[in-house]
Amino acid sequence: MRREYIKYLVWVVCVTIWMTLCFIAPDFIDNPHDSVRSVLTIGAYLCALGTASLWIIYIAGLNKYIAFISIPLLGIGGAVVSYYRVAFHATITPMIIDATLHTNGGTIAGVVSWQLIGWIVLNITVAIGFCVWRRGLKTPTYAWLHAIIGVILLFTYYTMNGRLRSSINQRYPYNVVHNLIEYKQQQVQLNSNRITLPYTAKELPDSIDVVFVLGEAARADHLQLNGYERETTPLLAARKNIVSFPHIYSEATYTSTSVPVILSPADSLHPTYSGSHTSFIHIMNECGFRSAWISNQDNGRTYVSFIHEADTIIFPNASKSVFVFDPWYDEQLLPPLDSLTARSTARNLYVLHTIGSHWYYNLHVPEAYFRFTPATTERVITNNTEEQIINSYDNTIAYMDVVLDSLIQRLENRCAILIYLSDHGEALGEGGVYLHAAETEALHLPACVVWYSDKYAKAYPDKTEALIRNKDKRYRTDFLYHSILSAAGIETEGNCPEMNIFR
Ligand SMILES: [Zn+2]
Repeated sequence: MRREYIKYLVWVVCVTIWMTLCFIAPDFIDNPHDSVRSVLTIGAYLCALGTASLWIIYIAGLNKYIAFISIPLLGIGGAVVSYYRVAFHATITPMIIDATLHTNGGTIAGVVSWQLIGWIVLNITVAIGFCVWRRGLKTPTYAWLHAIIGVILLFTYYTMNGRLRSSINQRYPYNVVHNLIEYKQQQVQLNSNRITLPYTAKELPDSIDVVFVLGEAARADHLQLNGYERETTPLLAARKNIVSFPHIYSEATYTSTSVPVILSPADSLHPTYSGSHTSFIHIMNECGFRSAWISNQDNGRTYVSFIHEADTIIFPNASKSVFVFDPWYDEQLLPPLDSLTARSTARNLYVLHTIGSHWYYNLHVPEAYFRFTPATTERVITNNTEEQIINSYDNTIAYMDVVLDSLIQRLENRCAILIYLSDHGEALGEGGVYLHAAETEALHLPACVVWYSDKYAKAYPDKTEALIRNKDKRYRTDFLYHSILSAAGIETEGNCPEMNIFR
């Protein structure tokens, strides 16, 4: 029986290798790989992710009939996912699931090609070959015991490390299940009832553009505006009507926990408001604003209901996730904005959720804007030198300067106010900490810059004077909800000065 069992294991390993090479390896085609070390790193990732598939095949293969159904299905699904990953650099995201469910047949037919059909047929053939091979093998004795051990091993492997689990969740076949669950949970969030805090609109202008740029991982101390020695924000520094706030504190250090606090009336006294109340977008809609959410990030479960308060929602890079090492840039948020401003009404709110300074830094800055070199070359951050990491990071800040300047150019002749606030900071190796979602001081100090047009200053001299007066004060990111409403002429009830940079 031992020989029969070894034959079964060989079959499991061969099916795993097929799935890993054909359906998981395509996820790594755009990874930076300049050295033997990076190739070995990618190889190690593939082995780790392939092992996650191995347990599934081990369990499914124990019963011939389950194998005859599951292996071809895995082959068809894997062929479709890997094809779009290679041909369109697209991965499964909740936004793509949403778009697919709300797309008509004609649009879907437009992305089906002969290459895709050929790739599916090839993989079905391979899958049938594995089924025939499995039919000739003996099922291990005590298959139920093997199944229980397989489930325990699968569970242990899946839960033993948070970073590995996040990576597994974004790779085939786990990404299909994970993103469907995420999509489903987002729908639950969208159907929940929320409370709107009282407000008064007494200074509403006839015409105004309020722009909120939600930054990503930009730390205050890397802005030239705040005294950083490098020229990271030369365009903003040369402009008038720019006010930087260098002392903003973010309690949360990662996107999914910080963004809901920024958008909602949640604060240190009412931390649960982010889960029970509407955001400033809803209130501005009620005050006659046309609102739009244009995003280079995902529609995270913790803030999806705020996104859906907006009248218009646009995701220029809906098929990208942070696990896709493919370039996408914040300039891509501007053409959708232009199409909206071209037919804009009197009062407008535009929220731009940027990819900003998210790792892998180089992928979010066009090469023409690589001001500081040498830049990073390795996907594992610690495989780069400190100089490379800081250079690439500072390039993202300098590119943010370009994007904000470009945005201001579009607004300067209108009555407009722009607030830029990053969701949290970023660690660049201090105390051995990198990136975010950890605990170090730089993560709590996000960049924040406000710009206003001359027309806005004329309409609201008190607010712009207060803005300048308050610039060196300390605020928590909770300030945003009350302040953006105040900037638009709407005062929240009990809006104390500690929460309002315009007062
Ligand atoms: Zn973030």
